[in-house]
Amino acid sequence: MRNLPLALLFVSLLTAHDSQLTTAFAAQEPVVRVAVLQEVQGVRVTVLAPCRLKDLATGSVLGQWSDLKWQAVEAGNPGIKISSIQTESRAVLLEPRQEAILRINARPYRGSLIFIQTPRGRLTVINRLGLEEYLVGALGSEVNPAWPAEALKAHAVVSRTMIAHRIWISQDLPFDVTADTETHLYHGVSGEREQTRAAVQATQWQVLAYQGELLSAAFHANCGGHTEDAAELWQVRGDLAPLKGRPDPYCKGLRHFHWRTDLSAKELMKRLGEGARGVGDLNRLEILERNDSGRVRRVRLKGSSGGVTLPGKKFRELLGANRLRSLNFNVRFSDGTVSFDGFGWGHGVGLCQWGAYGMAVQGRTMDEILDFYFPGAHRRDLKGLPGFPANS
Ligand SMILES: [Zn+2]
Repeated sequence: MRNLPLALLFVSLLTAHDSQLTTAFAAQEPVVRVAVLQEVQGVRVTVLAPCRLKDLATGSVLGQWSDLKWQAVEAGNPGIKISSIQTESRAVLLEPRQEAILRINARPYRGSLIFIQTPRGRLTVINRLGLEEYLVGALGSEVNPAWPAEALKAHAVVSRTMIAHRIWISQDLPFDVTADTETHLYHGVSGEREQTRAAVQATQWQVLAYQGELLSAAFHANCGGHTEDAAELWQVRGDLAPLKGRPDPYCKGLRHFHWRTDLSAKELMKRLGEGARGVGDLNRLEILERNDSGRVRRVRLKGSSGGVTLPGKKFRELLGANRLRSLNFNVRFSDGTVSFDGFGWGHGVGLCQWGAYGMAVQGRTMDEILDFYFPGAHRRDLKGLPGFPANS
């Protein structure tokens, strides 16, 4: 099991500003591996502290430095080259000998760094650090730290649950999460704020569980008035009552609640590409079916050469998740223009970020927010759940 106890203390940092924001978390915590850059030619790394380089697989020390300043890391032949050291390793760990900030290009991170040579001969850069420290930066990368504390705390629990779940299912993979919206935004130390640190500390180790297991929690920006049943989008195991979806009055009228976008028929067909093969010139676009949350399950395109039916999920993926912000939309086609009028932003499963904000503004507590978005789940300590030993 990868997330065995590791003595991780996060205390001394480079600047007074940083140290004001930092206090030591519990000494032992699960570790998260975040792919912060993928398939890059090379990066520059800075560590203003003694550090050493290890082969990730064997743990053997390949080199050490009193510090590293703006040194190149490249995928070489056969292995990874860092500063003047050419290794034969395809995966290396760069770790400071004491707590220090590490910079990838100019961006600061905590913990340690893993560099992996990809099959294409490029680099994937992974930041490895304790889960609680990760959450401070990750939470600040996702939501406005000026939000009410109860909303930040609820989000901290949901983020921790989601990331812990990823740690659990990614044990045989080179990393647990990416740093973009695919999983959870993460800007490293740049994302940290006093308020997000307070929210993480106030909920330390707390996650959502259901039927004795970690819940596969999720969140999105705005549900548009009804959260989504996870089973509509993902393969879910057994009864997942907390992720069934429900009407949400709290995000109404708040940011990202309503959206509109127009596409020319030509642009739409270009984006659909192979997905609309054989349709020809578009004549008609209709919604065939919606699910219980009101989201589009299937669309039908008819054109000069034929017709095609697409699942809503596929339709959104092809058009672009930021162009077609949600599957809760109406569509109109006239004069060569396809006009979408929709609600919400994101897949809609789990916590509605703006709804959580709305609840907190109305004076609701963290637990009321969590109970609303995950009915039937309960908040508990991560330690002792499957995959997370009680003494970790
Ligand atoms: Zn909502």
